[in-house]
Amino acid sequence: MLILMKPGVVREDVDRVKEKILSLGLRSHEIPGAQRIAIGITGNKGRIDPDTFKSMSGVLDAVPVSKPFKLVSREVKSENTVVRVGSDEIGGRELTVIAGPCSVESRSQILEIAAMLREMGVKFLRGGAFKPRSSPYAFQGLKVDGLEYLKEASEKTGMHIVTEVKDTETLPMVAEYADVLQLGARNMYNFSLLEKIGEMNKPVLLKRGLSATVEELLMAAEYIVARGNYQVILCERGIRTFETSTRNTLDLNAIPVVKKLSHLPIVVDPSHGTGAWELVAPMAQAAVAAGADGLIIEVHPDPETAFSDGFQSLRPDTFRRLLDRLQELAPLMGKSLSLVTSVATT
Ligand code: PEP
Ligand code: MN
Repeated sequence: MLILMKPGVVREDVDRVKEKILSLGLRSHEIPGAQRIAIGITGNKGRIDPDTFKSMSGVLDAVPVSKPFKLVSREVKSENTVVRVGSDEIGGRELTVIAGPCSVESRSQILEIAAMLREMGVKFLRGGAFKPRSSPYAFQGLKVDGLEYLKEASEKTGMHIVTEVKDTETLPMVAEYADVLQLGARNMYNFSLLEKIGEMNKPVLLKRGLSATVEELLMAAEYIVARGNYQVILCERGIRTFETSTRNTLDLNAIPVVKKLSHLPIVVDPSHGTGAWELVAPMAQAAVAAGADGLIIEVHPDPETAFSDGFQSLRPDTFRRLLDRLQELAPLMGKSLSLVTSVATT
């Protein structure tokens, strides 16, 4: 159920509706908008009678929400959500570029690549310290040491840190270091983790599960938002299909589909989406052309020696050429790619 308040409604009327929702044992979610305030209701087991609210002062309408996801839907909020990270934004006019290695491998590796990326003007640094790997014998990450190295890289460059959280146990620790928590494809159905992240005040990059539908991705996002954390960025990272010539099939349909169904920003990961470094640039460009709000791309100073995903990682010079192309392409899609080229040196 969504309660639409009249334009210019007074605060007392909004609060009275919220109190009413609470008194029914339900949860209210105030959704501010440019035109009007809306209040989403969650927690109901059955149907709520719209007349309970329609007669209240300041209420314009009370409408049932038809989808299994509500707060993340366009029905509830028509304007795009813009997620703020420091002085930067994801989901606004800016095309966001997140780049860095799959895993943090050593202090020198992450400092080296961070300095290179920063020199190119990239504002978001990715790198996994806790790696949920398909094989228990594969490199699992440097864990807290990796987080410390990321912190140092961020302090030296001013870049925002995007790093993966693997489980509820390590969530508080990872959240201390991350500017954006990455929730990986393998964890999209980890409802305890989704709920815990929902209780935090921290942006989250939610990756689509290996075989998840767009609707399931949006329901996973709903778990986070329903707990009060609206700072969700969706990520299309490819899905499993019968096609074997690529690691995954990058589902670019998901971009306009998400834009239609949801107000949340969506970024695309052409590295995992293809699993082949030669395909990363074309698919990154295709994602921007399809309306993506940003890209997350694996870049490694020396892909041949990478501990994970070297085969899909770009070399810094290839990545720089892609940035040039994206700078030309972004304005055609109503976006801009502002690269900050003043290098911090501390
Ligand atoms: C990653 O970003 O390195 C990663 C493991 O991604 P995904 O969860 O999409 O497989
Ligand atoms: Mn990877």
